[in-house]
Amino acid sequence: MCEYPAQDVREWLPTCGQCGSTNVDVMWEDHRILYGVSSPVYIDVRHPVNYCNDCRFCFYDWRAEEIRDETVKRYQAKGLTSTTSERTLSSVNA
Ligand SMILES: [Zn+2]
Repeated sequence: MCEYPAQDVREWLPTCGQCGSTNVDVMWEDHRILYGVSSPVYIDVRHPVNYCNDCRFCFYDWRAEEIRDETVKRYQAKGLTSTTSERTLSSVNA
């Protein structure tokens, strides 16, 4: 079961997974997702990363996961058409 917190999301505080502190800074950072197996590509994504001020632990939360998921899905939706046309081209050439 996946449930969202009942309270306003803006009041939700990231909690350090290492020491349990809520003394956490959130930074928006550019990241790259390596996607694919046979011919991997990098997908650029920007999402929040949490830094614990107490133990220097850094971690992603569900917001980052959601943004990464969304980005990959959007890429897949775009990629399907180009993969199909590439396949058509190579079968014509062969
Ligand atoms: Zn910590």
